[in-house]
Amino acid sequence: MENLSVVRTIDEKCRIDFPLEFMTTTGWSKFDKLLMTYNEQDETVTLKLSGKYPGPKCVFCKKVRTKMLLHGISICENCLQKAEKL
Ligand SMILES: [Zn+2]
Repeated sequence: MENLSVVRTIDEKCRIDFPLEFMTTTGWSKFDKLLMTYNEQDETVTLKLSGKYPGPKCVFCKKVRTKMLLHGISICENCLQKAEKL
């Protein structure tokens, strides 16, 4: 696998954005956690995936990896079925 290098500008809020090609290559997604390590000797910064975002939580039971959205609110299928019976 080839190394992937990109140049990015740090914006006024000290943020950088990742190009889609970089996200696809690394497998990183929005809200993933990254560990940033600064190496003073060679003045490099290393980013390492620290944790994958598990996905939205159901507003009622807090189950993660909820796939369903109802009017913009995350709700799991189990809770949706319970709500329909009310
Ligand atoms: Zn639920």
